[in-house]
Amino acid sequence: MDYLKSDIKFVSGVGEARAKLLDRELNIRTVGDLLDHFPFRYIDRTRIYRIAEIVDGGPTLVQFRARITGVSYAGEGRRRRFTAYAQDASGQAELVWFQGVSWIEKRIEVGREYLVFGRPAFYRGQLQMAHPELETMEQALSRRPESGMQGIYPSTEKISNLLGTKGMYRIVCNAWALAKDRIRETLPADLRDRYGLMPLREAYYNIHFPQSAEGLRQAQYRLKFEELLGVQLGIQSRRTERLSKNDGFLFTKVGEVFNTFYKEKLPFPLTGAQKRVIREIRQDTVTGYQMNRLLQGDVGSGKTLVALMSMLLAVDNGFQACMMAPTEILARQHFATIGRMLEGMDVKIAVLTGSSKARERKTALEGIASGEVQILIGTHALIEDRVQFADLGLVVIDEQHRFGVEQRARLWTKNARPPHILVMTATPIPRTLAMTLYGDLDVSVIDELPPGRRPIKTYHYTDSARLKLFGFMRQQIALGRQVYVVYPLIQESESMDYKDLTDGYEAISRDFPLPQYVTAICHGKMKPADKEESMRQFKSGEAQILVATSVIEVGVDVPNATVMVIESAERFGLSQLHQLRGRVGRGGEQSYCILMSGEKLSRESRARLEAMCETNDGFRLAELDLKLRGAGDINGTLQSGMAFDLKIANPTADVQILSRSREAAEEILAADPTLSHPDHEGLQALRRRYSGREEIDFSRIS
Ligand code: ADP
Ligand code: MG
Repeated sequence: MDYLKSDIKFVSGVGEARAKLLDRELNIRTVGDLLDHFPFRYIDRTRIYRIAEIVDGGPTLVQFRARITGVSYAGEGRRRRFTAYAQDASGQAELVWFQGVSWIEKRIEVGREYLVFGRPAFYRGQLQMAHPELETMEQALSRRPESGMQGIYPSTEKISNLLGTKGMYRIVCNAWALAKDRIRETLPADLRDRYGLMPLREAYYNIHFPQSAEGLRQAQYRLKFEELLGVQLGIQSRRTERLSKNDGFLFTKVGEVFNTFYKEKLPFPLTGAQKRVIREIRQDTVTGYQMNRLLQGDVGSGKTLVALMSMLLAVDNGFQACMMAPTEILARQHFATIGRMLEGMDVKIAVLTGSSKARERKTALEGIASGEVQILIGTHALIEDRVQFADLGLVVIDEQHRFGVEQRARLWTKNARPPHILVMTATPIPRTLAMTLYGDLDVSVIDELPPGRRPIKTYHYTDSARLKLFGFMRQQIALGRQVYVVYPLIQESESMDYKDLTDGYEAISRDFPLPQYVTAICHGKMKPADKEESMRQFKSGEAQILVATSVIEVGVDVPNATVMVIESAERFGLSQLHQLRGRVGRGGEQSYCILMSGEKLSRESRARLEAMCETNDGFRLAELDLKLRGAGDINGTLQSGMAFDLKIANPTADVQILSRSREAAEEILAADPTLSHPDHEGLQALRRRYSGREEIDFSRIS
């Protein structure tokens, strides 16, 4: 907002030093930035307490009106402290200063009445307040802007030390005085009328200085709407642009490779849903437009096969395809599975990961550059600059939530013309939300599991049932089955977690001794070769038990494994639990998921574990997850994949506003696709603002 671009240091009460700190700590540089720094909660300053009403365990900030009856000093030099005694009709309080004593002692007047505001504390039952804010009653009454609710601003330790509880509020007041006549409306009047949006100036006023609960609500609505509208305008314009270019590769031929695979190699009939999705992809790739498709399908629904057949289509039409997986293990597994399925066919595939040895790397890089390799499978390594495709026509991204937008953008720039993009995920999210988070895309859904799957039985045990658990594992292993035991690893570096894991491994090795039993272990700190060896042992059936961290979370496929034991299950998120459970139940045998936890559980953890025991439906769990997880938490996770930060809207909590803003964006762009109408100047700026980081060409990614 150019009109609010003046440097924050010119706001009274700020100055050079504070301006630097505001920039460093909160990214606030201009008056506009400051106005966009919204309170995260409000305290009611219309409420004036009586001293006797202020009790331990009450609100963290309160104000009361009292007369100063006397003052006293204690201590010497730097340890000097100043106490003022305050009294109202109901009781007494002590106001204490450890710093700025000479300043406050000159200003406080014994016998006078003040409005005292601060954080209550209790010492031997006596109300105390350290460094409270004082205003004479005249000041309090003339305070401008008049506001009952006072905003509490997101802050950092350094900022609050420097500015105090009310410091940020004061600065915002001063900034407001400077800015209020320079705020220009961004939304046209007819749009505001139609969607019931208050003017921007009023919205800023009410978000910082709410005049009433209703005013605040309307201000929040307006600002959220505006933000989400900006996002939607960006997404929809990109879509229009993509569809106007008409430079997508054509996969018109269903040729020999696809047909041979379909007729001779397919190990089982496709499910109806798989067929439908392949048809949708086929249709996308013959239009001349570039495909941008999100494929949602529950764990085990057979997405890999859809990916493979799409890649074969590319190959049939003379293009290369690549598939990117989030982990080394998964990439290698895809390479092995796909290699097996294509055995005897004339399709050249290669693998490339971070730990590829020189020879493997050379084969992949040279083959891809010359065009000899037709399908490349790998991890992030695929987006390194060294990887140059001869003719990349299709990119498949598996388990997309692990990849950031930026990574996808990089992959993209490898081509002068954009390849088709298929993003696959087992974590279903509503379409509007997916669009907000991942941009312009079409959605396909596999809503059917391959036949013959029996629902997995899920049980919740507490640690005291460990003997029972081991007994059950023995029983399953005696039937020839295999068992996963998974430990949470919240941060790869957390040594506590590794201790749990290795202790667990030792305990299991003791209870399931060699030579009768073989227990393999696999975690992120092991050398890739050792990891691979463990996975091989487990896949081949040599090891009956695999103790692992959640590195196996996504995509590992061992159909003979029928038991998934999840240790400290309360520490996993719902979608992660569901992903892990999806590792079993892939063969025809009855499979089990055992959730182990401590006795004491938070209400939310208990709800998660109960939901897991109740349903196998990933879509239902995903919905529940959205409900259970607080707005902040999920927003953080989701935003890591986003191109920009949202300041006030929360796409999960504000779905309703999201869909209204989407509708509005459609209407606006239908009437004025370029936003060049004079009334749409503000909208154009808004679209620019939410079109993502500039160094990335966002018209070119999914
Ligand atoms: P996900 O969607 O979780 O990636 P996968 O692609 O790993 O699922 O498939 C899960 C399992 O189902 C694999 O063992 C795969 O071979 C098998 N599968 C896939 N499609 C079918 C089908 N149409 N009929 C029977 N089994 C299938
Ligand atoms: Mg998969």
